[in-house]
Amino acid sequence: MVDYKSLGLVNTKEMFAKAVHGGYAIPAFNFNNMEQLQAIIKAAADTKSPVILQVSKGARNYANAILLRYMAQGAVEYAKSLGWEHPQIVLHLDHGDSFELCKDCVDNGFSSVMIDGSHLPYEENVALTKKVCDYAHKYGVTVEGELGVLAGVEDEVSSDHHTYTDPEEVVDFVTRTGVDSLAISIGTSHGAYKFTPEQCTRDPKTGRLVPPPLAFDVLEGVEAKLPGFPIVLHGSSSVPQEYVDIINENGGKLPNAIGIPEEELRKAAKMDVCKINIDSDSRLAMTAAIRKVFEEKPAEFDPRKYLGPARDEMEKLYKHKIENVLGSNGKAE
Ligand SMILES: [Zn+2]
Repeated sequence: MVDYKSLGLVNTKEMFAKAVHGGYAIPAFNFNNMEQLQAIIKAAADTKSPVILQVSKGARNYANAILLRYMAQGAVEYAKSLGWEHPQIVLHLDHGDSFELCKDCVDNGFSSVMIDGSHLPYEENVALTKKVCDYAHKYGVTVEGELGVLAGVEDEVSSDHHTYTDPEEVVDFVTRTGVDSLAISIGTSHGAYKFTPEQCTRDPKTGRLVPPPLAFDVLEGVEAKLPGFPIVLHGSSSVPQEYVDIINENGGKLPNAIGIPEEELRKAAKMDVCKINIDSDSRLAMTAAIRKVFEEKPAEFDPRKYLGPARDEMEKLYKHKIENVLGSNGKAE
């Protein structure tokens, strides 16, 4: 048993309570390699923002579970070396799909886990989520559950259609399971193709796709039933068009990639949404930077010469999200 506290990590309890009442959201950035981790920690330390290091099942397999534990511990020490005296860093499992996986993460230093039973019949989702909560809470590990189904693809999680969260179900779900936070479906989705061109309109000036708005009425409905309860948004990358352009201009092929406008996320962060998941945007930043180097310097074969610029670009992106979208800067002095 590896206690997350011994790694210097914290759970989400206190940071979510502060975020809900303070009208901002905590960034949950997915990572699976050293450069991403360095960029996340540098951005969080420089802005003094609480941060959630988010790992999917696929990322955990990719990075190796043992290495990952020490990377998280290293992240805390790295943050301190950057002058961040009391780092608030969470190691969180994204989309846990079984009790066994969640238990394994709790037993190996994670301070927070998500159990995603959203694809199950309601009663089965309740039973599975409660089982994970009962186990995790014994060790002070916080748990995120999910109600409603998101469209899109994220690692091994996929669904073709949205089913918005039913506000009528949330009180029963939260009360019976004991979850600490709840992911809901209001129209965000996983991946870099969040909407088809048919679902969008086009900006007559730029010719770019304009996505349909999020279902804020569903979020308001949930808030009315559960005032002040921490709400989570998955699939909340904005798919910056400048990265898509750089990728496409340098040999890539991402036609019609589109995400959630940052103004909508800013609005959600001011409400009871206290955790916003961002994965695709950092993939795009990394890919754009690497493609640019490959195109401009075809003779380059030192990985530091392309992973270095990729790391710089991700750091810039993370800082922008923290300061201009989520508003979590200065909340972990
Ligand atoms: Zn997700």
